Amino acid sequence: MDIQLKTFAELNLLPPLERALKEQNYKIPTPIQAKTIPPALEGKDILGCAQTGTGKTAAFALPILDFLGGDMRKARSGRPQALVLAPTRELAIQIGDSMRVYGKHLKLRTALVFGGVNQNKQVREMQRGAHILVATPGRLLDLMQQGHIQLDELEVFVLDEADRMLDMGFLPDIKRVISKLPSDRQSLFFSATMPPKIVELASQLLSSPFRVDVTPKKTSVKKIKQKIVYCERSEKVGLLHKLLRGEDVGRVIVFTRTKRGANTLAKKTEKAGVPVAVIHGNKSQAARQKALKAFRAKKVRVLVATDVAARGIDIDNVTHVVNYDLPNEPESYVHRIGRTGRAGAEGIAVSFCSGEELDYLDDIEKLIGIKIERDPNSVKPAWKPKPKQGGGQRRGGGSTSRRKGNHKGKRSKSSLGNSRSSKRGPKRGKRNTKENRRSVVA
Ligand code: AMP
Repeated sequence: MDIQLKTFAELNLLPPLERALKEQNYKIPTPIQAKTIPPALEGKDILGCAQTGTGKTAAFALPILDFLGGDMRKARSGRPQALVLAPTRELAIQIGDSMRVYGKHLKLRTALVFGGVNQNKQVREMQRGAHILVATPGRLLDLMQQGHIQLDELEVFVLDEADRMLDMGFLPDIKRVISKLPSDRQSLFFSATMPPKIVELASQLLSSPFRVDVTPKKTSVKKIKQKIVYCERSEKVGLLHKLLRGEDVGRVIVFTRTKRGANTLAKKTEKAGVPVAVIHGNKSQAARQKALKAFRAKKVRVLVATDVAARGIDIDNVTHVVNYDLPNEPESYVHRIGRTGRAGAEGIAVSFCSGEELDYLDDIEKLIGIKIERDPNSVKPAWKPKPKQGGGQRRGGGSTSRRKGNHKGKRSKSSLGNSRSSKRGPKRGKRNTKENRRSVVA
């Protein structure tokens, strides 16, 4: 299905959603939205290969809101109708914010569940009832075990950033969540990359999915100006401080491989007179939010981060990403540099590469399929063994699905269609019928 949508009006979304999009000044659906929303509105499972920054959140949020907004069932205590699993607290919060913005004129409730904070408020929210739950896997399972959340009425399940979830060791948690989902549901699965393990997980979760691919690895990274600066490890601090003094350098995210490395670098950089914010997995949720707020509000222009903490963060006008340490997982390189060059802006990614990291560089170039430009003033260092692995990464993850028709098992597409139209139909008449939806993609 090659869909060329030029306006949101063509999607035939509920008027309150169209209003919210107008208020956000969204005029044209992004490619992932244009490709995902029509089949998702039809109730199809989706396998989406896309990174954050592509408009992916609205691609799954709008069909969910349209579906639930057309139905307008009363939210039941502890029993969400839609679940979005995300790998990190930051991403979960961001998705929750987007749900609230797009669903502003609908009377739907979105609850957030993530670790690192006291659970009481989250439990109260669930007891009050929420139509949509955005969660990280660990806390979700905790609250499910305690009996505060049941997924037996779930209709849509979204797994977001699946590859990241796996990198962070969430596979067992995800499988436990999936085992509790009603088999009769809609599932939306998003991942920036599709290594074999992800393909396997997707095949377990999805039924005849509609495949959407908007980020062929090789072209996505080509949009960002990338450079390798060869150096010794001991030279990195000086190189970074020199770079930060550059005239064209605005907002910068600096990635380190370990949490300890992030702390040390932050101290040295502050000492050199450049205020920084730091986020990594050992920081409390409040400290992470505070750091992000300061960076967003431009109170500090440098953010030092580890991979996990920075995952999915949507901040515009990041002029430079600096890989202070090269990541040991090549996919992380693609995610990291994707923090710059957002919303069509030009981005620059500078990576420091010492002798210990030459093997990582090889892996990265193999993955992205291009040879990254070398700084002509830097000299390739002698090869050294890789540094010891450390800190930085733990858990995270997310996904989306929608329940397909009755609750007794997966159904054929035609029966699915009937059940959907009866679900969404009567209250909003013509707008919300299955037939009407079909016409969107015909
Ligand atoms: P996401 O990939 O979902 O994190 O979205 C990246 C950024 O694009 C966010 O700041 C969104 O608010 C913005 N965005 C998403 N869809 C559109 C659209 N159709 N038009 C303009 N901005 C959008």
